[in-house]
Amino acid sequence: MHRHTKIIATLGPAVGSQEGVRSLVDAGIDVARLNFSHGTHETHRQMFEWVRIASETAGRQVALMQDIQGPKLRVGVFPDGEVKLAKGDVVDLVPDTWEGGPSTIPIGYPELLEDVHPGHRVILADGLITLEVEDVGDSSLRARCVVPGTLGDNKGVSLPDSILSLGNVTPKDEEDLGLGRELGVDYVAASFVRTRDDVEAVVKLAGGAPVISKIELARALENLDEIIEASYGVMVARGDLGVQVPLEQVPLIQDDILSRSNKAGRVSVTATEMLESMTHNPRPTRAEVTDVANAVLAGTDAVMLSGETAIGDYPADTVRAMARICHTVEEGTLSRRGEHPVEFVGDENQIASAVAQAATQIALNVGARAIVAFTESGNTARLISKYRPEQTVVAFSPTPETQRRMALLWGVIPHEFERRQSTDEEMSLASSLLERDNLAEKGETVVMVAGVPPNIRASTNLVKVHRIGEPSGRLGG
Ligand code: PGA
Ligand code: MN
Repeated sequence: MHRHTKIIATLGPAVGSQEGVRSLVDAGIDVARLNFSHGTHETHRQMFEWVRIASETAGRQVALMQDIQGPKLRVGVFPDGEVKLAKGDVVDLVPDTWEGGPSTIPIGYPELLEDVHPGHRVILADGLITLEVEDVGDSSLRARCVVPGTLGDNKGVSLPDSILSLGNVTPKDEEDLGLGRELGVDYVAASFVRTRDDVEAVVKLAGGAPVISKIELARALENLDEIIEASYGVMVARGDLGVQVPLEQVPLIQDDILSRSNKAGRVSVTATEMLESMTHNPRPTRAEVTDVANAVLAGTDAVMLSGETAIGDYPADTVRAMARICHTVEEGTLSRRGEHPVEFVGDENQIASAVAQAATQIALNVGARAIVAFTESGNTARLISKYRPEQTVVAFSPTPETQRRMALLWGVIPHEFERRQSTDEEMSLASSLLERDNLAEKGETVVMVAGVPPNIRASTNLVKVHRIGEPSGRLGG
């Protein structure tokens, strides 16, 4: 049986060779993430090539996701590389990139004095330190330390109470997206989006790659529905989100984001610290195993690894552990899935969604071996996937980009396909490919979803119950 939940792994120095990347692909990753908060264009280009080669060698589609840094604010540098902040200390926050001092913290944001007001929190170093702004002066903000700690060079700054006037796409992002378009990445992950406009700004520069919006700001939660609507998918980015909102709220927010994005027919991803301890240990903790399992139970399409694979000591072992957890949870809950069918999934294409829902129901009732989708853009496969069928969805597409993109979709096995001129020909070709690749055997039933006429986007309107080995024009039985 195939694993349905997909695995995204972040690339980095721990797998910085053709063999390293190959080890992740062989361990079962479906998507490789290039994190543009780190690395250079050179290293990303190299990784990109290694992934494409490893995928080709393995004979399995692996999508590439470009994750752009977005408007992440950072402090400047300090004479000793760090500054200690004690509770009650008063410091000046200056909108500069110069060197700071014991009571001066430069923050690389020109609009600091305009956008941050008394009473607002300034959270530093991924949630370690909290300051509260008391006064706004001519050239600095005066703030008092409420939660103390040691602040290092270039640490992150989070302003959860302030409405920032900065744009979502920074000059660095623009350059990085240029590289992404040149390479032909399969997905773009957009960091720190706040509104539909932020998402649309990234969509415009993504060169046709679907955009996954990272939900990691309190403001994104306020605008969640419009962000979901404007995006191909969303990521529960628990790392930065956990800085913006109290940590104990993250689990319920995660459930809410997953259920709203799934209902809207969007792809959902759960990210960050999923198997964190495996960065330096060969085995995960019980709590981590349960975390991955809970994300699967809550209906995530994909789970993501970050430092575990990028800088960890056991990158391939971590992927294998994650694959085992997902697979075990899926197997153990298979019989429950039919009892609680997914309600109608909203989508721009209502007809395709209705057809996908019917196909899933038919597949369940006739005990089909697989569901087959013929798809130009991948949208039919995405919709069937959202109904969470028991069967794997074998998605035939003549387009290489679509084949690669579908690697992210829950339960979908992308498959190459040569275009045919009629639906009957499509179906008989698919039938023989299923048999050839051991995806179905003679006599088994599969449910096929297609569009008449074929080879047109958004034309899905047909379900056929097909028995392998019988002529496609006629239903055996
Ligand atoms: P990052 O995003 O790894 O790019 O920070 C994920 C997160 O914040 O959880
Ligand atoms: Mn983040």
